[in-house]
Amino acid sequence: MSIADNIHRLNAELAGTSARLCVVTKTHPVEKLQEAYDAGARCFGENRPQEMAAKQPQLPADVEWHLIGQLQTNKVKLLAPFVHTIQSIDSGKLLREINKHAAANGRVINCLVQFHIAREENKSGLTLAEAEEILRSDEYQQFQNVRLTGVMGVATFTDDEAQLRQEFQQLRSYFEHLKDAFFANEPDFKDISMGMSGDYKLAVSEGSTLVRVGSAIFGSRS
Ligand SMILES: *Cc1c(COP(=O)(O)O)cnc(C)c1O
Repeated sequence: MSIADNIHRLNAELAGTSARLCVVTKTHPVEKLQEAYDAGARCFGENRPQEMAAKQPQLPADVEWHLIGQLQTNKVKLLAPFVHTIQSIDSGKLLREINKHAAANGRVINCLVQFHIAREENKSGLTLAEAEEILRSDEYQQFQNVRLTGVMGVATFTDDEAQLRQEFQQLRSYFEHLKDAFFANEPDFKDISMGMSGDYKLAVSEGSTLVRVGSAIFGSRS
């Protein structure tokens, strides 16, 4: 199946669900991104700032670029002029840096709080208590150039459906909790980014609004 076929199939699968597609384009050359774009994809996820910044000028301007990997504060500057959403907020310090560079560019950058939901310790993300501490801080209240639009998580790499469901339910419960406690009157706080090539169907059935799919579209990364 071609890239276009895969995107059409995924979009057909997602039609009528709560979820939309973020095409994970990391490691792939811009020609393949253009193929995905021509098949209708507009949300692209990359995990390396330099790679994203190099690809961005080579694709049409209406691509929504999402950063989906851990972001060092000294790389924010590279992305601030164009990035649509940073899905990997794992500290107040990172949020502060994004706010600063977004302001310098006269922009508001969407951000998702990344939660640690997997069993693997090496996967990053905050605990609920850590996220609440950031959201309660005086500093956060002052930020004018970041907009919190939801939560993101990476589940354990496993075939165990019960385990995956439990992790997706956990992320959803974090979302609901933060929504009630901090964003009750903010319709922009709406996204639960969960589900990848191997587990997106389960994630959608547990309420994902944004699935991040790479290898099911482009084949495995070398
Ligand atoms: C690479 C990556 C994906 C996509 O993974 P596939 O299994 O290729 O679909 C999704 N989310 C994150 C955070 C990733 O790093």
